[in-house]
Amino acid sequence: MADRIDLVLRGGTVVTPSGRIRADVEIDDGRVVGLSAGEAPAPAREVIDVAGLTLLPGLIDTHTHLREPGQAHKEDIAHATRAAAAGGYTTVIGMPNTDPVTSTLERYREAISLYERSAYVDFNHFPSGALIEEIDGLAAAGAPGFKLFMVSGADLRQSGKGVGDSGHLFEAAEAIARTNLPMFVHGHDPALLGVIERRAWARGERDARAYAQAYAAFEGIVWDGPTSQLVRIQAATGVHLHVLHMKTGRMADIVRAAKAAGQHVTAEVNPVCLLIANDWANIERLGPYALSTYIGDGQSEPLWEAFRDGTIDVIGTDHAPHTRAEKEIGWTDMWKSAGGIPHLQETLPAFLTRVDRGELTLERLVEAGSAAPARVLGVYPRKGAILPGSDADIVAVDLDARATFREEDVLSKCGWSAFTGETFTGLPRLTLVRGSVVYRDGRVVGQPGFGRIVRRAAG
Ligand SMILES: [Zn+2]
Repeated sequence: MADRIDLVLRGGTVVTPSGRIRADVEIDDGRVVGLSAGEAPAPAREVIDVAGLTLLPGLIDTHTHLREPGQAHKEDIAHATRAAAAGGYTTVIGMPNTDPVTSTLERYREAISLYERSAYVDFNHFPSGALIEEIDGLAAAGAPGFKLFMVSGADLRQSGKGVGDSGHLFEAAEAIARTNLPMFVHGHDPALLGVIERRAWARGERDARAYAQAYAAFEGIVWDGPTSQLVRIQAATGVHLHVLHMKTGRMADIVRAAKAAGQHVTAEVNPVCLLIANDWANIERLGPYALSTYIGDGQSEPLWEAFRDGTIDVIGTDHAPHTRAEKEIGWTDMWKSAGGIPHLQETLPAFLTRVDRGELTLERLVEAGSAAPARVLGVYPRKGAILPGSDADIVAVDLDARATFREEDVLSKCGWSAFTGETFTGLPRLTLVRGSVVYRDGRVVGQPGFGRIVRRAAG
């Protein structure tokens, strides 16, 4: 039987970088070995009929909070990567604001060992780039890039979570530039936000609405200034700057201009900013369950425009689960609550629904969800494409299927979703990681520990 390949996905429509084709996908030893259009596919040990389905390269999440180590009461790697498999995500990259913060080589290795034990899909994990002396060692150990928060307060600086001033940011950028890895920055101005927050508190306003309005104040001023500074530091250091949390039209203008000038800048949007937090009615209805941030009046259209025109390269889910108890207090005091919501499972069907409504093309979704993240991580086209030689990371979606997302569907450990009650058009039916089925027809069928680390090729 040595002349038979492992698997053929028969009869589907494949979204490739050069367009959609009707083709049978030939898979052997975890990789795509051929796309057979118009002729019989190679003999295979297993054939899965995907007639009527559309095959996309598995989505890659550059921004997942899996909460291990230290916060497993709200999420863990097994739950998050099961949700990923069900949501068509075949690679997730974790974020370092765990407990302890992933700021050293030793802690990075510990984090990776947790994924190796529990992950259902492929993975890597961003360490913090705040401890400059750690950067070279982390890069050599296989870190995919570095995450920096902008923080205020010596305690946060000492924890290695973030950078507290522009000097620290500059030195981190210089060191990261030498590694050729991307620098992912959550840029906001904590001192400026502090002034806006204290004014709200002085008025006695602490609920979810007040919190939303504080972040959105002055058309998102807390985001725009740091973006300019980041782009300027990129020009000085040559680092690959990846701007997280695109939220305003001015941020889009800054990034668009930097790209036009040839700077090595990429940008990422949290789907919540395009799908939920850009509508005040959702903030009123969901309160803390819609937050961390509100995209203020007038910002949604420029943000969507930047997403459609490619100024925003990447969808990073920012899947960020918290327990109901941690959220519930936010109705009265959002500053005692926790920002962030879960949606690794919901992101693909939510965007497919926008494709169905004609608000987005399927090709743009595949680019932002699969190909561009793979390029940012330096793993394209091994990941992020369905081409001969690529890993067989594939999600088969039924573009016409409709279902209302229910609370009992939620796979994240936190057990709730801002999307419950929404009817999606376009659903994942089958997810493969390296040629193995991890999700099929409503059930996660993969195994913990199946996921492998995804490293950029050397050189
Ligand atoms: Zn995040």
